[in-house]
Amino acid sequence: HLFELFGAEFIFYLIIRNSLPNDYANRLPKAGETLHGDKFSTGFGGKGANQCVAAARLGAKTAIITKLGEDLWGANYLEQLQSENVNVDFVQKCQGQTTGIAQICVADSGENHIVIVVGANNLLSSEDVKQAKKLFETAKILVCQFETPLNATLAALQAFKGISILNTAPARKNTPSEYIKAATILCLNETEAALTTGMDKVTTLSQAKEAMEHLLEMGANNVIITLGALGAVYVRSDEPEMFIHVSAFAVDKVVDTTGAGDAFIGALAYNLAQYPDLPWHQLIGAANQVAAYSVMHPGTQTSFPKANEIQKVAVYAWSEI
Ligand code: ADP
Repeated sequence: HLFELFGAEFIFYLIIRNSLPNDYANRLPKAGETLHGDKFSTGFGGKGANQCVAAARLGAKTAIITKLGEDLWGANYLEQLQSENVNVDFVQKCQGQTTGIAQICVADSGENHIVIVVGANNLLSSEDVKQAKKLFETAKILVCQFETPLNATLAALQAFKGISILNTAPARKNTPSEYIKAATILCLNETEAALTTGMDKVTTLSQAKEAMEHLLEMGANNVIITLGALGAVYVRSDEPEMFIHVSAFAVDKVVDTTGAGDAFIGALAYNLAQYPDLPWHQLIGAANQVAAYSVMHPGTQTSFPKANEIQKVAVYAWSEI
């Protein structure tokens, strides 16, 4: 069973970051206007940190390499990571910098304005990869994204000898092929798959198959595309003719889909470290189950399950496309 064992694995993440202050008002302010809102809330976010926390919740031994500012947000985030049992030995506070923040103003209609200040995230460099040499030598899995400086991400992918997952988020047009080639597994959502391959859209299984073919031609080793309520599809370099669809885990009621992709990647990393010999459709099925739990619960990191909140499933449904 997939979630029986935990602990013992060392998963390492290069990423970061931030708290998300949300202001809620009945409409968005016009330029120069001041409005009174009704609610203010903050939450911890950033794709890398989300993915790290998702894996840690399941019982993975995780470490994060990241940079925070010398401010209250950074101090709070450090505490948060520690409370989630994430190793923070390679988290640095940067003098004179602010912690990465996305400030979101939400209107009653759901419309929003977002201002992102990446702050200390921008200082992450290939030097940080060198400094974490010991971590790179012992970790089984490395997870990277595109939210931090790209050259540091490439340095991390090239230095790492275990299984690396590159989540090409946020989506970029013309992702240089060296990134696509450097990761063991490229993991994309529909939007990222469309932008990376230049396709109009990737929403159906046959479009996803076409996108995976493109990505293999571009030099990808193994590809996973998440397709929201359709689940996920994958192709492996050792069976490049075999395109597999793993159905989504059934959801009673969609509450909040934010963080679903990060829950998926964190769970995938945990599963790959813990059960390297299981077929991928089982590992991806289990990641779909964790992502489905996230969809049924509010918030981002707050929506990720602990191992004991996931019911064991013997076999996940999959089929060839
Ligand atoms: P992102 O959050 O990056 O946009 P997706 O929308 O593809 O990523 O969702 C990631 C994963 O979350 C999917 O592969 C699936 O496992 C799960 N998921 C998302 N939406 C649903 C849904 N409506 N029902 C069941 N699972 C879902």
